[in-house]
Amino acid sequence: MLSLESPAPVTKRGTKWYATPVFYQPDRQKIEQLTRIRYQEQEQMGEYMESQECLMAFLARALDDPDPTPCGKCAVCQ
Ligand SMILES: [Zn+2]
Repeated sequence: MLSLESPAPVTKRGTKWYATPVFYQPDRQKIEQLTRIRYQEQEQMGEYMESQECLMAFLARALDDPDPTPCGKCAVCQ
């Protein structure tokens, strides 16, 4: 992940990683924001696993489909 920063604080030569003179400080606000989103997604997956509605409709709604319809094929629909 550090190698994707620009400028990168690490570089790889051959099979080894080396620190570069670039000062690196993690973006704590961005990390907290992404962590919050990941926890929300994890919670949503738990809801999906317990869902009693069409699983495809659940996913469609999660992906902002304004009119999700039951698929008739998933485990819940069957
Ligand atoms: Zn279904």
